[in-house]
This record gives sequence, structure tokens and C-alpha cells, in this order.
Amino acid sequence: MNDQADQADQAATAAAGAARTGGPGDGTRAVRAGLPEPVKNEPPLPGPVFAAHFHLPGDVTGPYTYGRDTNPTWTLLERAIGELEAPGQGGVDTIVFASGMAAVSAVLLSQARTGDTVVLPNDGYQALPLVREQLEAYGIHVRTAATGDDGQLAVLSGARLLWIETPSNPGLDVCDVRRLVEAAHAGGTLVAVDNTLATPLGQRPLELGADFSVASGTKGLTGHGDLLLGYVVCRDPQLAADVRRWRKIVGAIPGPMEAWLAHRSLATIQLRAQRQWANALAVAEALADRTDVTGLRYPGLPADPSHKTAARQMRGFGSVVSFTLPDREHAERFMAALHLVEDATSFGGVRSTAERRGRWGGDPVPEGFIRLSAGAEDTGDLVADVLRALDTAGAGA
Ligand SMILES: *Cc1c(COP(=O)(O)O)cnc(C)c1O
Repeated sequence: MNDQADQADQAATAAAGAARTGGPGDGTRAVRAGLPEPVKNEPPLPGPVFAAHFHLPGDVTGPYTYGRDTNPTWTLLERAIGELEAPGQGGVDTIVFASGMAAVSAVLLSQARTGDTVVLPNDGYQALPLVREQLEAYGIHVRTAATGDDGQLAVLSGARLLWIETPSNPGLDVCDVRRLVEAAHAGGTLVAVDNTLATPLGQRPLELGADFSVASGTKGLTGHGDLLLGYVVCRDPQLAADVRRWRKIVGAIPGPMEAWLAHRSLATIQLRAQRQWANALAVAEALADRTDVTGLRYPGLPADPSHKTAARQMRGFGSVVSFTLPDREHAERFMAALHLVEDATSFGGVRSTAERRGRWGGDPVPEGFIRLSAGAEDTGDLVADVLRALDTAGAGA
């Protein structure tokens, strides 16, 4: 009960903080993000522009020339994402990609050269080890360290780029972005933050000093599980030009339909995030009382090892909860007993999803480890479903 009161207090403080900074609130910004000035008899959000090329008489001048370089549907989406990642600041550059991994690779491969050193987390997204292999094949040195306790601080010296993932997926450790940025910048190291889990509503890496905010738009940003997307936001025009050039030469561009669907989905990000974060907290609180659950992690739980740092730098704690059941079979019975939670990978969608993460074999997690992403269901329904499935799994040994 006290915990809930604390949470309500923190939410109120965060809301007051947002109000104090002036400017519109998250919901107000989200519903209008990236929309063009109203034009009589035109729709508020223009439809997707399907074009491989654009009429281009005479000299090659912008803005729209060839469909791998530019597209008006991307322009509006990029503006919208920039307004959410760095509100009221202007001057940021956003580049959208075909997927989160396209965006991740664009930053790493456009910045690191043979002989450079890159620092990655050792507990990050499951495709990062593949990226590491590729970097090493190009003669780039890779060091890794844990996200928790700011472990990457110890391996920064002389690095070209520090890659941060906070909260980390799937372990939900959090590091102090400002502290890492300060140390990195003092040594001339660039900093990129993977902001996928938090979404720009939950965390604004550029305000915390990062050079790049990078994310998969496939997850909570768009929230309907119907498209893949990635983006990079940065302030430095040269860094932005490097990333844009990488997109051009690799061609990892989103289709106009995906870009338009993403923009349409952004209008509801504040509504979705509010419900999903509240649901995640409610599920985490219910799991905290269970003797069959160990290793419970949710940065929004006051008792969580990440909570203090998360409360300082995050504006919301995300939709993902992770925990461990006694063994693989127990976890499989739990998954099979859920009615409202889909057994699927990915996270951040309006329908709750969960999976026994060990089935992929890529993450260093126990066999009974579950990653659960709270959707936008009614809180009571979701919590009841999870508790009932736990009881069924426990009874069916
Ligand atoms: C999903 C994910 C990615 C990759 O995004 P895709 O859109 O699947 O390519 C990168 N980082 C994190 C933290 C993710 O969860």
C-alpha cells in the first residue's frame, strides 16, 4: 500500500516536472507530433507516398529525388519522433530505418573504423553478439561489460564509441547514463543509447547527454505488433550525415506503408504507455508476493536494484517485467495456462505477450526465465490471468 502511495507520489512529481518545463504535455504532443500545417481539404496526416522516384526536371535539387534517399512520409515520421525524443529543442536530426537492427548497425558501422575500440553491454539485445562478430571481422576491437553498477565505466578508455542499453533487455538492469556520458566524453568517446525499452516517453537520452538515441520502433514506440521500424536521433549534423549516408549505401529503408502506420500509431503512444506501465507495475507487485517467483525485476518497483537510478533518469519505467520460475517445465506450464497473454517474442504491444526467453538460446538466462510485456488490457483482468496461470503451473507438476 505504501509502495502504491509512493508510486502515485512519484508519478505526480514527474507530471509536475513535465508541467514546470513549460511546453505541452506528452499526450498533447503525441497526438500532433510531426503533422504538417493544416491545409484546406487535405487530411491532417497525409497518406503514404508510394514512389520509387519523383519528377526531377533539370538540376538535382531536393527535397524529393529518389526513393532510397528521401520520402515525404518518412519526413513527417522523422519530425514526429524527433519531437518526442527531444521536445522543444529543435535542431535534432532523425533518420528512420527498416528495423531496429538497421538503425543499430548504421550507428556502429558508420562510426567505427578498423583499429577503433567499441564498448558494448554484455547483457544487451540478443543480436548484439552477432554485431560484435561483424565488428571484429572488420578489425574493430570490442570490449563488453555489464549494464548494472555502471560496469562499462571500467572499460571505456580510448574507445571510439560506447553503446548503452538501459533498461537492458531482457535483464532490466539500468545504468546511470549521465555518469557514463560524462566519463566517455572526457575521453573523447561518443555515446549511443538504445532507447527501445523505455520509448521516448519513458526516457530521453539526448537530454541525458548522449550523442545518439537509437531504437527499434517495432516495440513500444508503435505498439501494435504489425510493423518493423528503427530510428536514430542525434544533434550533431556531421554524425547525422554519417548515419544518413550509411542508410543510403546499405539501403535499409522503411517502406512508406510502414512509415505511415508508425506515424498513425504514435498519436496514441501516451495512452498506451500510461496503461501499459501501470499494468506492468501491477503485475510486478502481484509477482512480488509469490513464493514460486524468484529474480523478479521491474525498475518501477521501489525494492528493485535499478529503481534509484531509474527514478532519476526515466520518466516512466516501461512495460516489461522479468522473473524466474523454478524450472523449464514449470515455465512452460505457466505459458500454456495464460489466456490474455500471448506466447510471443517482442514486447511493448497493446496485447500482453510473454515468453520463456531461454528457448532462443541467445541470452544468459535461467531455463525458467520469463520476460512478460504488459499490454493495454484492464489491469484487474491481466493480473488475475497471470496469478491464475501461476497457480495452474504450480498445481500441475
Ligand atoms: C528488438 C530490439 C532491437 C532490434 O529491433 P528490430 O526492430 O527487431 O530490428 C534492438 N534493441 C533492442 C533493445 C530490442 O529490444
